[in-house]
Amino acid sequence: MSIHPVAFVGAGPGAEDLITLRGLHALEEADLVLYAGSLVNPGLLDRCKPGCRRRDSAPMNLEEQVGLMSEAALAGERVVRLHTGDPAMYGAINEQIRGLAEKGVASCVVPGVSSVFAAAAALGCELTAPDVSQSVVLTRTPGRTPMPEGENAAAFARTGALLAFFLSTGKIDVLMQDLMREGGLAPDTPAAVVYRASWPDERILRGTVSDIARKVEEAGFGRQALIFVGRALAAGGGVSRLYGADFSHGYRNRLPTEAFDGRCALYAFTDKGLSRAREIAAGLGLPCPIHSTRPGGDGVEHTPGERLDEALARKWGDFDAHIFIGAAGIAVRKIAPFLRDKTSDPAVLNCSESGAHVISLTSGHLGGANRLARRVARITGGQAVVSTATDVNGLPAFDEVAAQEHARILNAEAIRPLNAALLAGEPITFCGPRAVFERHFGALSQIVHADRPEAVATARAVLWDVEGALPDGVEHLDITSKAYVLGIGCRRGVEPLELRFITEGHLSDLGLRPENIAAVASCDLKADEPAILELVEKWHVPARFYDAATLDAVPVPTPSDKVREKIGTRSVSEAAALLGAGYAPDVTAQPHLYAPKAAFGDVTLALARLPHVKAAPKRGGLVVVGLGSGAPGHLTPETEAALRGC
Ligand code: SAH
Repeated sequence: MSIHPVAFVGAGPGAEDLITLRGLHALEEADLVLYAGSLVNPGLLDRCKPGCRRRDSAPMNLEEQVGLMSEAALAGERVVRLHTGDPAMYGAINEQIRGLAEKGVASCVVPGVSSVFAAAAALGCELTAPDVSQSVVLTRTPGRTPMPEGENAAAFARTGALLAFFLSTGKIDVLMQDLMREGGLAPDTPAAVVYRASWPDERILRGTVSDIARKVEEAGFGRQALIFVGRALAAGGGVSRLYGADFSHGYRNRLPTEAFDGRCALYAFTDKGLSRAREIAAGLGLPCPIHSTRPGGDGVEHTPGERLDEALARKWGDFDAHIFIGAAGIAVRKIAPFLRDKTSDPAVLNCSESGAHVISLTSGHLGGANRLARRVARITGGQAVVSTATDVNGLPAFDEVAAQEHARILNAEAIRPLNAALLAGEPITFCGPRAVFERHFGALSQIVHADRPEAVATARAVLWDVEGALPDGVEHLDITSKAYVLGIGCRRGVEPLELRFITEGHLSDLGLRPENIAAVASCDLKADEPAILELVEKWHVPARFYDAATLDAVPVPTPSDKVREKIGTRSVSEAAALLGAGYAPDVTAQPHLYAPKAAFGDVTLALARLPHVKAAPKRGGLVVVGLGSGAPGHLTPETEAALRGC
């Protein structure tokens, strides 16, 4: 009988597909897997062969672990010890290897992707930035394991190297103070924290050594986070993503069922409601103005009851979500006058003062209210109350799928019949990209895939980025990925590669891809700007240019008088994006400024979202009626009906 060495395998940082092939192979062959509790993705354990024993090491002490592994190995079994990230970083493997050797069992190590590199990937930056710093210190603050003399954070900080701290979020406040006071770091030294790198709920916080501790505390990150500090973080191609003053997307929850990137406004009516609103605003990590009928101090807009309707009327269209804290009745009465239709209404949520229930009231799918309700419920520790029929039945509504994919619906009147057919279990063909089909409908036998519209053989179909003719009589929903117009302002002579790097990075920060861009827009001075022309060619999209007077006439949230002095318009990127997406003073389905101006060095970017095309409004009419004598009983039935109907 041969005795196999125990394999210490790096499981990677979390995502199932970030284990190495060698590690996966060892896992698939193993008879016994001892794994590091909740830190290892359970999906990896599903790769083990039937009959493989899987044991969580969390409740075991060293002796028990070594005993279990050595017994199995000596009985000829293949044993894998699965560690998070790479076993060499804080893996405590030395003592296990020694213990096994004492029992006559050899070991080998299979490296893994350490969380430090998954976190760097999430930040999208190089840790060793040329001209800034060429060294990285992987370290930690002391815990139960003390730090050896000389290895203190302040001393490392003085070297100018980029610092990465494991196991330290619990003490981040003290650590940052120490780095500034003893380590001499300037308060504006960039810092970032990555929570659960590569997991679906990964979050990123960016800031400086002076404010990152507060941000981490507000976000309530647990221990599974890494802290980075150093100038190298802001060095990406000379472009500082951290310093874009109006860079609004602090972190994103990337669970597809909880993703919401829009602007939220909160309304509270009591002191308790106000503290709940603060908790939600901090947890969302997005800039969210809080309106309170009670005076609330810092960061709260005091809006006495009688002024609330007026405030709501002013802000209704400026926000993607309105979150009311308190009795649902108040919310329902307040919003009723503003509701129009589900393709354009914002998401409205009502959260009970206790946070126990978060109700998705309007625009559950296209407006994202259901996703936002789940996300807010996660923050308050409560339950999301979602009542849309497809969700209740666990079915992927087509408008929800479009929203999750950042796509745009071209014939909104078809949403209802297609979703109804889905609920009724009728066969539907999805004609479009396989990847989208697999992501959302692959598990549903009711929905079949077709590559071309001519091949559709069901009475209903969803067309996704598809042109071509359907067989006669097929009822269909038309969807396109191209739902955004990117407005660009830039200095003359910007490097084409730099512009691409900045634009694609910004899109990705917003959860978008170049495929989501319908057009690029700017001012006519840029009509021959090589970087813009190269970009549109690369993305296969049209470019649209507008003169200064046209741009200046568009109302935008971030106007600049300085820009106006130079080129005659207060806004380039925001105004161009809106115009490119069809803004005109008199149209009803206005585009929507999805991401206001963000500055990246000499480049400013803004994104407008094209409206979902609405059903043509029913034709109105004019009825001339005679009131008879004027007494109520003397109206003809026709007159009465006309009066009731108007
Ligand atoms: N061997 C592991 C580190 C284990 S020590 C590795 O190479 O990644 C545990 C610490 O690692 C945590 O306190 C946290 O600082 C960090 N960590 C582990 N997984 C992480 C993840 N997915 N995202 C961010 N930090 C993580």
